[in-house]
Amino acid sequence: MTHKVHLLFDERMIDHDPGPMHPERPMRLQAIVERLRGHRITGTQWSRPHPATREQIARIHDEAYIDHIDAQRGKSAHLDPDTATSPDSVNAAYLAAGAAVDAVTKVMKCAGDRAFALVRPPGHHAERDRAMGFCIFNNTAIAAAHAVQELGCRRVLIVDWDVHHPNGTQQAFYDRDDVFMFSSHRYPFYPGTGALDEIGTGAGEGLTVNVPLGPGQGDDVHWALLEGLLRPIAEQFQPELVLVSAGYDSHREDLLGGMRVTDDGFAAFSGLVSDVANRYAQGRLVMVLEGGYDLAALGRGVCSGVEVMAGATPPICDAPTGHGAELVKEIFAHHRRHWPRVGK
Ligand SMILES: [Zn+2]
Repeated sequence: MTHKVHLLFDERMIDHDPGPMHPERPMRLQAIVERLRGHRITGTQWSRPHPATREQIARIHDEAYIDHIDAQRGKSAHLDPDTATSPDSVNAAYLAAGAAVDAVTKVMKCAGDRAFALVRPPGHHAERDRAMGFCIFNNTAIAAAHAVQELGCRRVLIVDWDVHHPNGTQQAFYDRDDVFMFSSHRYPFYPGTGALDEIGTGAGEGLTVNVPLGPGQGDDVHWALLEGLLRPIAEQFQPELVLVSAGYDSHREDLLGGMRVTDDGFAAFSGLVSDVANRYAQGRLVMVLEGGYDLAALGRGVCSGVEVMAGATPPICDAPTGHGAELVKEIFAHHRRHWPRVGK
């Protein structure tokens, strides 16, 4: 089966420049766009996003924080030790959040369509009242809130496979029962959160699933966790939309992440979330770009993700053995308290 894949992109997101030698550099989006344009994947449709509205952003961020960001228009400033703006950064941040929102609007309008929001700055570290870790507005969280509060979506599943824990996304939905967040990430590592026992509170208890991993993990462990943990949870949660915070910094060629995921691994993960979306969410799947700092690996990762979303057959990963198998078993046992079908 083939699917239309909307590619949300605007050149003005390339104009965000956090400074020389910064890993989150303009070339990241250029590498992705060049690769996608060179491949001409059947079913893809490019469109320009609207900038997000203040109302859409205010579902996730404080009004005072939005005012603070608005005040940086046209300026170069440091928002946190890792996050800097250039004169065009605020426009880019509004477009990045708007691209994620537009992507969700498109797939909610037409079941079976998929979308990839090709954005910078990334979003998943941005908290309610602060920029953090290269992120200004939390694009994925804003898109999830738009799906729930504007489009009437009752349950959203967020999968974050970036090597870093999505502290901002976790914070946004920690006590809510309408947005489920699954994250696999290196731990302990930046930003410091994402322990196994961070599972949500109140109505949201059990609806945050963290999978902390030591360095050097590859396709097998990541795949086993998606297959054995995410899939049964999705079956029980019955999402109406699947949103992926798609980071590619756990690729083995990415020097920042220290993990060993391959090109085939990312293609397989895309296949798994596509299948989950098909089974439970009428095919509604949106990916939003997060990290990924090796330009070639990033371009290949996004491109294969788009190919798989459009209908290409994904590879399948081998099951882990030895230490990897033991680690997966321990993580399953922990989460089985809230999700009895895990690992069965
Ligand atoms: Zn990252």
